[in-house]
Amino acid sequence: MSIAEKEIRYLKGVGEARAKALEKLGISTFVDLVNHFPRAYEDRTQFSLIMASPLNEAVCIRAMVASPPTLARVRRGMQLVKLRAVDDSGSVDITFFNQTWIRNQIKQGETYIFYGKLSGNLTHRTMTNPDWEPETREGLKTGRILPKYPLCQGVSNKLFMGYVRNALDALGEEVPDALPEEIRAKYRLAQSRYAYENIHFPADFGALELARRRLIFEELFVLACAMQRIRSARVALDGICLPRPDIAPFYASLRFSPTNAQRRAVEQALDDMASGRPMNRLVQGDVGSGKTMVAAACAWAVCAAGKQAAFMAPTEILAEQHLTTLRGFLEPFGFRVEKLTGSMTAKEKREIKAALAAGEVHLVVGTHALITADVEFKDLALVITDEQHRFGVNQRSALSAKAVRPHVLVMSATPIPRTLALIIYGDLDVSVIDELPPGRQKVDTFAVDETYRQRLYGFIDKLVKEGRQVFVVCPMVEENEEFDPSLKSAVEHAQALKAAFPAFRVECIHGKMKPKEKDAIMSDVVSGKVDILVSTTVIEVGVDVPNAALMIVENAERFGLSQLHQLRGRVGRGAHKSWCILISEANNDEAKARLNAMCHTNDGFKISEEDLRLRGPGDFFGSRQHGLPEMHIADLCGDVKILDTAQTAAKELLLSDPSLSAPAHARLNARVQQLFAANQGTIN
Ligand code: ADP
Ligand code: MG
Repeated sequence: MSIAEKEIRYLKGVGEARAKALEKLGISTFVDLVNHFPRAYEDRTQFSLIMASPLNEAVCIRAMVASPPTLARVRRGMQLVKLRAVDDSGSVDITFFNQTWIRNQIKQGETYIFYGKLSGNLTHRTMTNPDWEPETREGLKTGRILPKYPLCQGVSNKLFMGYVRNALDALGEEVPDALPEEIRAKYRLAQSRYAYENIHFPADFGALELARRRLIFEELFVLACAMQRIRSARVALDGICLPRPDIAPFYASLRFSPTNAQRRAVEQALDDMASGRPMNRLVQGDVGSGKTMVAAACAWAVCAAGKQAAFMAPTEILAEQHLTTLRGFLEPFGFRVEKLTGSMTAKEKREIKAALAAGEVHLVVGTHALITADVEFKDLALVITDEQHRFGVNQRSALSAKAVRPHVLVMSATPIPRTLALIIYGDLDVSVIDELPPGRQKVDTFAVDETYRQRLYGFIDKLVKEGRQVFVVCPMVEENEEFDPSLKSAVEHAQALKAAFPAFRVECIHGKMKPKEKDAIMSDVVSGKVDILVSTTVIEVGVDVPNAALMIVENAERFGLSQLHQLRGRVGRGAHKSWCILISEANNDEAKARLNAMCHTNDGFKISEEDLRLRGPGDFFGSRQHGLPEMHIADLCGDVKILDTAQTAAKELLLSDPSLSAPAHARLNARVQQLFAANQGTIN
């Protein structure tokens, strides 16, 4: 076995117990360890004189201890070690809290390096709990750029640094290296050994930059190669060829005229389905941009060709709503649209399944129940998934495996900054609906605190009396979540609103309810019988109630930006002026920035960029949601330039060696395969 794959417990200094702790960080081999990169660095290279140092900034000073360290007990459980140290410029009084052992380690008359913040005034300086080491020792904590690692309990930063040192020494030249030499040379990237050494223990900031650039490039390059291989594998397949239909009759049946963006997306999808290759298209459009109609047009074309389509929604409520909408679109043409969800009785399911297998149902709308093994189609030609960020790559491919390479249409309301779409959806073609149906109004958004509540209730009262409906969203309360009384749980909040508005019909839906109950309430909401709907985020995606004019989000700080934008998208869908009120008592800057961004823009693309900036891509593109691997070092948002270059390099290389079978590309190929190990079916 290579050193790289050796288990971490065999690393010098680790052992069984620490190996367990490291496992929590996702580290089980030597390579995992060196791929656990610092999250930050502390510049401890600058030395300064005590009296010439800036105050309240961390610095290294070199000073001789002028007094024997003294021990003082302030009170029970609080002991201080104090000493005075001097350099050519003056003296500093240093205090250590609860580290009594230091008294015997620091010796009067010897010189040490102290790293910490200086406070004081013009004549008197102090330092508290500095890092320190004897000046004669090779700098471990001082005089260098110190890596700061993401850690877990049982492993300190110092300990972790030592492990990394040992692992790098053990690995020698065997550090991971997926970059073919030709690419490395062409793009002037550092050698991998140099990169690993300097990402952990930078010789200086220049070296750190070179190391970062190389490792980021490598990571994005491997990802780009993987995505492009998935794509070319698909393009090489035969797909169901649907002769290009005349879509005019479908358009003529609509009660509105499709926007240009909708028409373009439909054209692109119809072209795909006529191409003889399997379609794999993402339709991306802000909330309310009318993606459902695009899906319906594609389903219509498929049904008109005598084949079947499946429409997969992330929740029962949405499946129900899509069923109604799609029936409206397709039944006038004599196509049968049915639903298949987990909450149906066994008998109902059996009937629908039989009808699907017999080809009597043209379009089936459902949830995950659609991808269970015993659902058979007579002639499935198109699979549509709504809000794809809710489905993993695995689930999508499970449904696609139902027939001979059906066409796939994915709809998403999570706008991805354009530069990223290519890599995130590298295996998909993208249609962007960048136009809202005419007459849509901007939803006025305000962030307020509790002091506003009385006025808000007055506003609710006024709107409902005008005939509008109101949504109130409370954060989801997980069962094992720490109790936080300030969190509005949906059920309690609904009680309070019922008491406040006895004349109105207030209902509540949440994730713990039976789908049947939820559906019943939802259909009353859609038909306007419910005045105020309180819910957890189950209404986040898709629900379409044009009469709703006010969205209130309680504890708004608990929601991500994109989520808030989705929630806001639930109102302003009809002709009525609509509002979104974000209630929050949060005082931290990040939360304020998020709420502020909501108040200032209605543009989903801007919101998602801001979201990325605030949250980082880790969350945004979490592997859980997209089936994409987590990036160790690359920041999909911040490293766009390198991303572009890596993409180009990957294209060039795959042009000359499409299957990465050249010996010089063996390591790259291995990494590419490994990347999607969980999705093997997709990459081969
Ligand atoms: P989303 O993209 O968020 O899924 P929907 O497909 O639910 O949006 O459409 C939102 C609303 O806009 C629906 O009520 C739909 O009937 C309506 N709509 C869609 N396209 C148009 C259009 N071209 N003109 C007017 N209304 C439209
Ligand atoms: Mg939708």
